[in-house]
Parts: sequence; structure tokens; C-alpha cells
Amino acid sequence: MAGNTFSKPFQTKRVVLNRDGSEPGSGITRSHVTAPILDTQPMNAVTRPEWTWTRGQIIVVSFLDGTPEQHDFVKQCFREYDVNLTFDFVDAGKREKSHVRITVSGGGGFRSLVGTQAIEIGKNDATMWLCLKHWREGPSLRGKILHEGLHMLGFEHEHSSPNCRIKWIPLEVYQYYKKMHGWNRKKTRRNVLGRLQAHQVDASKYDPDSIMHYEVDPTLTQDRFGVPENLELSEMDKKMLKWMYGSKL
Ligand SMILES: [Zn+2]
Repeated sequence: MAGNTFSKPFQTKRVVLNRDGSEPGSGITRSHVTAPILDTQPMNAVTRPEWTWTRGQIIVVSFLDGTPEQHDFVKQCFREYDVNLTFDFVDAGKREKSHVRITVSGGGGFRSLVGTQAIEIGKNDATMWLCLKHWREGPSLRGKILHEGLHMLGFEHEHSSPNCRIKWIPLEVYQYYKKMHGWNRKKTRRNVLGRLQAHQVDASKYDPDSIMHYEVDPTLTQDRFGVPENLELSEMDKKMLKWMYGSKL
């Protein structure tokens, strides 16, 4: 969605937490634990296999700031993911045990590290930024939180899919994001125009309905192709989540 969401192109080693959420070191890797043998791979969504959490594990989430009401709204959004993961929310005093740390009071819009990148960050540093103070609770804010939550779970932007064929007008795109968000060309290239390589992600058919797709103004594309602001998980987003993590049921 339009906003200051982005995925940093980190270069990190493969790290996967243990099922109980403890730090790695036991030798358990994704290929041992989460290889989805029985499920059918969905046809959409873009995810980072090397930054996927382990099925069934506890992800400890700490709020670094914010009010109880703000925390409750974020928790409510995360509960919408029907996945075999447990989010254990702890207060800032217990952030040493956390895997994901959320700040809700800083500037800079909405963004998140992708998947298990978060566990390589210092325990005093945020891994997700939700600029709640400028937003009222409602469908738009909920959609932004669901979008960032999917980054946390290993999803990349759908328009960055190697299978996305949007015919951008780059000069228009640069001007648009400069005007709307103050982004320089590098940031716009990284967040909007850039495509991930096929070997970096699990991706197949392109899904413009994904909540991980930015809104696309038709004036920015050669064929006037546009995408509205997607505020709900698409059917394929849900299928990908289930394929990656299984269901709670
Ligand atoms: Zn994003």
C-alpha cells in the first residue's frame, strides 16, 4: 500500500528460531522443520524462504512504546492471521526475550523488517515501525498493520514479484513518490520499481489483489493499469500463509 513501507535489502545468514521461540543454536533449520510436503503450493504471493519463521513456534513481540489501547489494536490485527504461530506480547521491560519489537510513536510511517531478519537486530532497536499517532483506528489503519505484519512473517511486496509485469513510467513514478512521500529516487527504486530475482523468493503468478501490493495510480503506468489500496488479505495471501505456517485449526 502507499506509505513508507519498505523492505530493507539486508544481506543476512540463514537463521531460524527453535519451535519454542528460543534463539537458534540447536541446529534446527527451515529445511528440517517447515518443508511443506503435504500442502499444495499456492499460485501467488511473494515470500522469502530463508527468512521464514518455524511452524508452531512462539514469536515474542515487545512494544517499545504506545498506549494499552494502541497495543490492543495491533494485537487484534495480528490475531487475524490464521497461522500455526503464537504471538506472545510482552512489555518493553522484557524486550531482551523478544524477537520482534514494535514502536508506535516514531515518525517515518509504516515499515517492517522481513521475517527472521528481526532476530539479528539489537534488543533495544525496533524491527517494526507503526506510526499510529497520526491515524484513527479503522479499516485503513488495520490494513496497514496487516501489511506490515505480513512483512514480519516473511512476505515481500507483491509488485516486487519477478512475475509482476507492470509497465511503469519511471519518471512519473519518481515524481509521484517524491511529491506524496518525499522519497528520493533510490528509495522509490527499492520500494516501487525494483523487482526481486526469481531465485530470491517463492513466487509464482502475480496477485494484484494482495495486501502486499502498493496502490498504483493509473497515471503511473503506460497502459493505465491501476491497483486500488488493498485493505484485506487476498485469498492468495491467506493460502500462502497457510502453506508456510499451517493453520491454527
Ligand atoms: Zn510494505
